[in-house]
Amino acid sequence: MSNRAPRNDGSSLTSEQIDALRSKLKGKVIVKGQASDEEYRSLLDRWNKMHIKEANIIVLPESEEDISETIKFVAEHTLDVAIHCGGHTYSGPSSGHGLIIDLRKLRKVTVDVEKKLAVAQGGCLAEDIERATEDVKLRVVMGAINATGCGGITTGGGISNLSAQHGLVCDNVVAARVALADGRIVVASETENADLFWGIRGGGSNFGLVTEFTYKLHDCDHDVYSGFFMFPPNKLDDVLGLFNTIHLDYIMKSDGKFAVNGFFAVREGVVMPGFLVYYDGPEEEAKKFIKPLEDLGPISPPSGGKMIPHSASTDWKQFAAMFPPQFNRIVGSSTQVGYPVSPIVLKKTVDLFQEKIALYPENLGVSKLIVDLRDYTKIASVPLDATAYANRRTGMLVGVDFIWDDPKLDSIMLAEARNYISTLRQTIKETNEQRGIADVGGHVAATTLYPLLTDGEEKLASVFGTNLQRMKELKRKYDPDVMWDKWYPVEPAELPN
Ligand SMILES: Cc1cc2nc3c(=O)[nH]c(=O)nc-3n(C[C@H](O)[C@H](O)[C@H](O)COP(=O)(O)OP(=O)(O)OC[C@H]3O[C@@H](n4cnc5c(N)ncnc54)[C@H](O)[C@@H]3O)c2cc1C
Repeated sequence: MSNRAPRNDGSSLTSEQIDALRSKLKGKVIVKGQASDEEYRSLLDRWNKMHIKEANIIVLPESEEDISETIKFVAEHTLDVAIHCGGHTYSGPSSGHGLIIDLRKLRKVTVDVEKKLAVAQGGCLAEDIERATEDVKLRVVMGAINATGCGGITTGGGISNLSAQHGLVCDNVVAARVALADGRIVVASETENADLFWGIRGGGSNFGLVTEFTYKLHDCDHDVYSGFFMFPPNKLDDVLGLFNTIHLDYIMKSDGKFAVNGFFAVREGVVMPGFLVYYDGPEEEAKKFIKPLEDLGPISPPSGGKMIPHSASTDWKQFAAMFPPQFNRIVGSSTQVGYPVSPIVLKKTVDLFQEKIALYPENLGVSKLIVDLRDYTKIASVPLDATAYANRRTGMLVGVDFIWDDPKLDSIMLAEARNYISTLRQTIKETNEQRGIADVGGHVAATTLYPLLTDGEEKLASVFGTNLQRMKELKRKYDPDVMWDKWYPVEPAELPN
């Protein structure tokens, strides 16, 4: 049992103590009840409204020194602390009742064209780095939507349309500067603090706050083909029937250039199937890969792709219509299954989603099921113990997003998402047993869930798998008092007797 002192929310700090912190910082310190309500609320806002909490103190650092001083203050007063970068995490770790270190003022990107490296401050959004690099004909690996913060997506893994060619977002980090729980700032790379470098690539914020990421960049001298293909609800089974073909006969034969997510999106209570496609090459080539989708007769408009810059393919604005503001409470969960995926599993994936949606027809406005058909071979080619990231598999990733409007449904929808994913996992297990297959694309010991698409309550062994013990040992070294306790925090390993 731990005998650590509990963290407190800072409500009993005196104004002298807060002023002492202010005097050390360039950036602002905002205290609940003392700032304008508008400013305070806008700083608390997050993509998922369900987890917004009324923090007592929000610090907006403007330098690494500000971060360091703030962390020392947190340590001195044993405060509850959360890190905010882009605010896009499903499970709400960037909110808290105590002090929030909000990195939104730290969004500078410096590109070294010769070395093909970008140094991004820890508060950058993906769009900051994509734009800065594309301007000089280079490309960074980030997620599919540019509004997400680099902090969460990089420390949590990060799956991109470029991952089949270049690996995970975290696999493209060559160095980082990390603020530790005692306020020291250290470099983490293969040659300096290599254990910490291991931990920040998939271990989230368990070991510190990354003030700066250095990313490897890739050449970018052409536009990409990108777009949606939507189908009427009566083609749902046909769409489902295409999944194995699209993956095995098209994506896997595209040299990593063709990236497709199947999706089932709720529109006024009806589930509409579709595909989000991306091809990293000329339109004539792309057309060959999208042929099975065109043959199936998509709804036109809105279906169809076009040639655009990579950074435009991730532009948040094109997805904004999918998220009407009144539906803003979200829970996600995920699981993975090897190819070829059994028709029983495919059918269960969608039938179960439809069953859940039908239970709450008024409320689940823009929920969706994402079936990620992308090629994970490159991700799974990295040894499982090379980084903390443990989901290095090659299967089809199923991510469910229940999105609703009524706060009264919060606990119900959390339970529904858990039930959805556990039922699906059970179906996968039974089907594999019946087929006599082990279902392990990629590393045998890899986990089957994607930690950035979960509700935050998964067991640590399911998130970190065989890397969990090393995570605990690093926790003992870098954060023995568990200051960083918001995103899948691990317990420090016991000291050997
Ligand atoms: C619309 C949408 C699209 C998405 N698309 C993708 C996708 O294509 N691919 C993918 O892999 N994921 C995707 N995700 C998941 C997304 O990557 C994660 O939710 C990610 O954590 C968001 O990062 P953030 O910085 O915005 O999060 P925040 O909520 O700001 O931060 C969450 C946590 O990340 C950690 N963190 C943030 N910054 C730092 C830092 N500088 N140092 C240390 N720790 C830090 C902290 O634990 C923090 O509490 C998507 C999410 C959404 C909502």
